[in-house]
Amino acid sequence: MARTLTHLLARNVAWARGKVAAHPDYFRNMAEAQRPKYLWIGCSDSRVTANDILGLEPGEVFVHRNLGNIVHTSDLNVLSVLEFAIDQLKVRHLIVCGHYGCGGVRRAMSGARGALSDHWLQPLSMLHRKHKCRLEALFGDERSQFDRMCEINVGMQVRRLAATPIVEDAWARGQELHLHGWVYAVHDGLLRDIGPHLSSAVERDALPSIDDDTAIER
Ligand SMILES: [Zn+2]
Repeated sequence: MARTLTHLLARNVAWARGKVAAHPDYFRNMAEAQRPKYLWIGCSDSRVTANDILGLEPGEVFVHRNLGNIVHTSDLNVLSVLEFAIDQLKVRHLIVCGHYGCGGVRRAMSGARGALSDHWLQPLSMLHRKHKCRLEALFGDERSQFDRMCEINVGMQVRRLAATPIVEDAWARGQELHLHGWVYAVHDGLLRDIGPHLSSAVERDALPSIDDDTAIER
């Protein structure tokens, strides 16, 4: 078995040469600074790659990914990315992007426990447990319930993001910051803008809680 990933390194060389062939200053310009307008918080799923989906070049989107695109408000990883994106890079848009067919959401719905990932997904499994009966009543088949949970997960994470002191402080000092909730469909390659959209603490406070029964309805 190969001990070095020479095939990947060869692909890298081909990629870099292709960029330079099309734009001789590509990497010279890239090395100066990054000026992304967007922070993407998405799932680690190998099919959901921010730059490819958005058709953006390196330098155009700041990215944080984890299992199930969860925003834990005590997670130093997501918080430091968030703070850097807002305070240093001055991004204008925070995008939480979930996806249909998410293994993290499926795991949270399964009631499984014991693995580290179950601790990570705990807020989502609690939310599913709370809404399970209503979810089954509104969305008959399991596939529809699964799809809807992938969407509800996005709603929960946008709310959690909006509740962080980092986002609150940005709004309080008048910094322009828009939060978006999207879902990506692996089967057609398209994004769905499902919301919520939040641009101020007032809008956030007017939003029904994700624990409300109405949050389950489409
Ligand atoms: Zn996923």
